[in-house]
Amino acid sequence: MGTGDGTVLGTTLLHNSGPAASRWNLVLLSEGYKSSEMTQWHADAQFFVGQLFAMPPFDEAAMQGRINIYRVDVTSTDSGADDPAPCGGTGVTAKTYFDATYCTGGLERLLTANTSIVEGVLKAQVPSWHQGIVVVNSAKYGGSGGTIAVTSTATNWVTVAVHELGHSAFKLADEYESWAGCTSGESGHDSYSGIEPTAPNVTLDSGRTTIKWAALVQAATVMPTSRNANCAVCDPQTNPAAAGTIGAFEGAGYYHCGLFRPAFNCMMRNLTPFCAVCRQAIRRTLNPFEWALRAVDVTSTIVECAFAPSGEPAPNDIAPAIQIAGATGSGSLQSRLYPRGVAGSVGAGCYPYEYRVDMTPVTGPLPASAVRTLSFDFGPVSRINYDGTGGADLFVITQGGPGTVRPASVTQRDNRLTIAFAAPGVAAAHSSFTIGLASDHPPRDTTAQVTDGAGNTHTIATRAPAFPHP
Ligand SMILES: [Zn+2]
Repeated sequence: MGTGDGTVLGTTLLHNSGPAASRWNLVLLSEGYKSSEMTQWHADAQFFVGQLFAMPPFDEAAMQGRINIYRVDVTSTDSGADDPAPCGGTGVTAKTYFDATYCTGGLERLLTANTSIVEGVLKAQVPSWHQGIVVVNSAKYGGSGGTIAVTSTATNWVTVAVHELGHSAFKLADEYESWAGCTSGESGHDSYSGIEPTAPNVTLDSGRTTIKWAALVQAATVMPTSRNANCAVCDPQTNPAAAGTIGAFEGAGYYHCGLFRPAFNCMMRNLTPFCAVCRQAIRRTLNPFEWALRAVDVTSTIVECAFAPSGEPAPNDIAPAIQIAGATGSGSLQSRLYPRGVAGSVGAGCYPYEYRVDMTPVTGPLPASAVRTLSFDFGPVSRINYDGTGGADLFVITQGGPGTVRPASVTQRDNRLTIAFAAPGVAAAHSSFTIGLASDHPPRDTTAQVTDGAGNTHTIATRAPAFPHP
C-alpha cells in the first residue's frame, strides 16, 4: 500500500522546450502499472501529450514553447487502484506505489493518491515541477484536482485530465450550472447569492463594459446573452448566439441562476474546447515563462514576397544612434516598417517589423563597444510560413541584405522580446543581419534596451506593435 509496492525507474523528458528553470514543468507519473505494463504506460503518456497539444490554446507554438512535459516511470506490484465495496466497487485492494483509491470521502468517482508520496517523487525526479498528474492504469472513470491531479485512463481520460488542469494550474471555475447534474432535481443550487468569484471565467456581473471579459465581447452581442427563465432548474434553451460567441450566459459555478459564464460551451462546462476567455486565462498564466522563437534564414526577396508578392513596397526607416562610452563613432538601431501584408500573401493581414544593429561606423575598443542584447516589448508574434519549411516566428535575412552577425537566440517572456548575440556581440565595424517578425498589430513608437559589452544599458527609440495591454 505504498512505496514498498513498486519502484521508481526514472524520468524521461517527453517534450523539451528549454531549460527547466525558465519553463512551466508538467509531470506525468504512472500509478498501478506493473513492470510488464511499462510499454502501455509509455504509449499512454505519449497519447496525453499529443491530445493536449491539439487542444487550443496548447496547440500554439508560444504555449508549447513554454512547456516541458516529463514522464516519471513508476512500477507497481498490482494494476489499477483500490476500489472500495461501500461505493459499489469491486472491493479490490491493489498494491500500488502511490496507493491510489476510488471512493475518497465516500464518492465513487473521487480517485486520489497519497500526495506526500507523489510530492516526494516529484521533488527527487523533477525538482522544478509546477504541476503533477498521476495517471492511474484503470478503465473505471475517476479523478481529482489539486497541485497533484489524479486521473484514470477511462474513455476520454485526457480531456477529463485537461479539465482538471483547468482548475489546478489555471484557476478556472466549473462553468456548469448544477452540482449533482441537471436531471437530479437538486435543491440549494437555484440562485447564487455569494460574492464575486475570483476565477476569471464566472461572474455576477453581466454588464457589457464592466464584465471581467469585456474586451472579448463584440458590440453586436446581446448582454446578457441568455437568462434562465426558471431558476428551479438548469436552463433548457439551446445556444441563442452563434457558436463560440463570448457574452454572458446565465448558469455557472453550480448555480442555475445568478452566475454567468462567458460562452455557451467550454472545456470547463462540458468538455468541449476551451472558450476564448479560458484560453486567454491559460495564456496569462503561461506567458511569464520563457520560450525560444523559431527562426528561418531567408533572402530579402523571400521576405518581400511574404507580404507583397507583386510589388516592392517602400520601407519606412528610422535609425537612431547607439553611442557607447569610449567607442569612436556611433552605431545605430535600424527599425524598418513595411505596409501590412496584402491579401493572397503568406503574411496577409500582418504587419512586418525589421531590426538591424549597425556598428559598422564604430572603431573599437573591443569588446566593450559591441552590442550584446537588444530587447523591447513586442507582444504576440504572428507565426508565418516564410520560406515553405513551416511556421516560423522570425526571419534572418542572410542573403540580399546587409550584415554578417546572426542572433544566438531570440526569446520572449511575457511581451518582452530579447535578441541575444554570441560573444563578442555585434562588434565595432560589424552589423547584424536584418531580423524580422510579424504582428497582427500596427506600429507604435517605443524604446528598446540595448546592452553593450561593458554591461551598460542604452535606451534607444524604435517601433514595435501596438498590442493591447490587458
Ligand atoms: Zn471557459
